Amino acid sequence: MAEETMPAHPRQKPVFRFAPSPNGPLHLGHALSAFLNFDLARENEGRFLLRIEDIDRTRCTPEFEAAIYEDLEWLGLEWEKPVRRQSEHFSLYQSALQSLIDQGLAYPAFMTRGEVKAKVAAFEAKGRTWPRDPDGSPHYPCDDRRMSRDEREARQKGGKTFAWRLDMQAAVARLKQPLSWTETGSGSQQEIAADPAAWGDVVLSRSDAPSSYHLSVVVDDAVQEITHVVRGRDLYHATAVHRLLQELLGLPAPIYHHHRLILGTDGRKLSKSEGSTGLSVLRHEGRTPADIRRMVGL
Ligand code: GLU
Repeated sequence: MAEETMPAHPRQKPVFRFAPSPNGPLHLGHALSAFLNFDLARENEGRFLLRIEDIDRTRCTPEFEAAIYEDLEWLGLEWEKPVRRQSEHFSLYQSALQSLIDQGLAYPAFMTRGEVKAKVAAFEAKGRTWPRDPDGSPHYPCDDRRMSRDEREARQKGGKTFAWRLDMQAAVARLKQPLSWTETGSGSQQEIAADPAAWGDVVLSRSDAPSSYHLSVVVDDAVQEITHVVRGRDLYHATAVHRLLQELLGLPAPIYHHHRLILGTDGRKLSKSEGSTGLSVLRHEGRTPADIRRMVGL
C-alpha cells in the first residue's frame, strides 16, 4: 500500500483582511465585509487582519479611523495588532512605482481632470464615443504617453505637477500568458479572464497622494501574505488591474471572493454619507451586533 506522507511544511494558514478607508463612517456594507472576513478566518483556522487604507491624506482623518476601531470592536470582531496603516508605508509603494518606471511601463501624466473632461467633451461633441472604464470614467488621453522625452523633461523641470500613470498597452504586451484570477464569489471556484485594458492608463501615484489605491493594495496584500481577498462586488472589475500589477511586480495572486453589496432604499450602493445605515447611528438607536448581522443577511 502506498504510504501517505504528510507535506513537509504544514499548509499555510489562510490570511484574510478587512481594509476600510477612514474617509467616512462605516455602514452596513462594511459590516457585511468585515463579518465575512472574520467568520471565514475563524472557520478556516486562519488569521484576520485589519488594514487602514489612508493614502488619501485630504479625505482620511484620525476621527474616522478611531470610529472604525470602535465600530468593529462593538461588532465583536478581533484582529491582529499592530494594524497596518498605509500612510506609514509610502516609501514601499514608491519602490513599486520605481520598478514600473524602470521597466518603462509608467509615464508622467500632466493633464488635469478639467483638461481631460474638456478633451472628451470636444471629442464626443462630434458624435463619437470616448472609451470609458468599467466605473464609467473616461480613459486618460494618449497625448502624454506619446510626448517626446524633451518635452516631458522640460515640463518636469518647470515644476508642472503630474501623476504617474501605467502605460496599459505596453504593460499588457509584457504578459507571457493570458491573465486571469481565481474567484469564489459565485459559490464555486472559477477562473475569470482579466481584462485590465478596459481601464486604460490607470493612475499609480498623484502629486497629492504618493500612491494609488491599485498600487498600494497589491503591495500590501503581498506584504501581509493575504491568501484570500474578500471584498464587495464593486471591486470585481478592478481585480483585473490588481492581477496585472501583481504580474509586473512579481507578487503572488490571492484567491478573490467578491460578495454581494448592501443596497440602499433607492437600489444603489450605500455611500458613506448615508447616515441611516451608519453603524454608529444604528448603535445609538439601540441596535445590537446580532441585529446588524441579521440586517446584512447573515
Ligand atoms: N479600501 C477599499 C474600500 O474601502 C477596499 C479595498 C479592498 O478591499 O481591496 O473600499
